[in-house]
Amino acid sequence: MIDFHCHLDLYPNARRLVNQVAAKNRFTLVVTTSPRAWQATSRVFAGHSNIKVALGLHPEIVAQKEAERGLLMSCVSEAEFIGEVGLDGSVQHRHTRALQESILKAVLAECERCGGRILSVHSRNAAGPVLDCIEQYCRVSIPVLHWFSGTLEETRRAVAMGCWFSVGPAMLRGAKGRRILEELPKEKVLPETDGPFARNGSSPFMPWEAMTIVRDVAIAWNMTHASVNEQLDQNLMRLLNTLI
Ligand SMILES: [Zn+2]
Repeated sequence: MIDFHCHLDLYPNARRLVNQVAAKNRFTLVVTTSPRAWQATSRVFAGHSNIKVALGLHPEIVAQKEAERGLLMSCVSEAEFIGEVGLDGSVQHRHTRALQESILKAVLAECERCGGRILSVHSRNAAGPVLDCIEQYCRVSIPVLHWFSGTLEETRRAVAMGCWFSVGPAMLRGAKGRRILEELPKEKVLPETDGPFARNGSSPFMPWEAMTIVRDVAIAWNMTHASVNEQLDQNLMRLLNTLI
């Protein structure tokens, strides 16, 4: 089991859950919403080599967390993974777009200065501007677009730029998400849940449920479940090997 984008620290019973996740999942990327949360979560979740905690500043809360901007930049050099970062163009977050963009560009520039990082990137209602930033800054860093929901044209542009994608069961619930999946290169896709925000009915998706995408992926790519599982495992190994 792989979950390449979840907010494990935000589940109500996170401390207990972490041992279960470490036992069930082969690899879990825990994204954080602020650098202080990254520091605290890294301490709490330490000791599990298959759970990595990514340094983030979520675009939806840049205004509240602006004071942590300096901390974010100073931590990039010691962080193995970056996320959740990105832009959100939804109506309720549009007023902070200039600040979101200035923080994203600064993070991307710092990642390059530090030799490149793997990033989990949010792009809701802002696919075009996110791709513009990636195009402008990312040379050695590897952006993984989480729950990508751009147009088909934007999807093709992201693919042509060499982006990776993390895809979850919530994204594949709609026809649009499944259509996007058909456009994605098999070797650049990883499973995610985005739990506890992404929900399965009344309860949040659990980090070991990311692999429920296999059924839809097998249909979209015309592959067997076994070969999809193998492909996703190989993708993870290839991505993690770029860190060495
Ligand atoms: Zn998220």
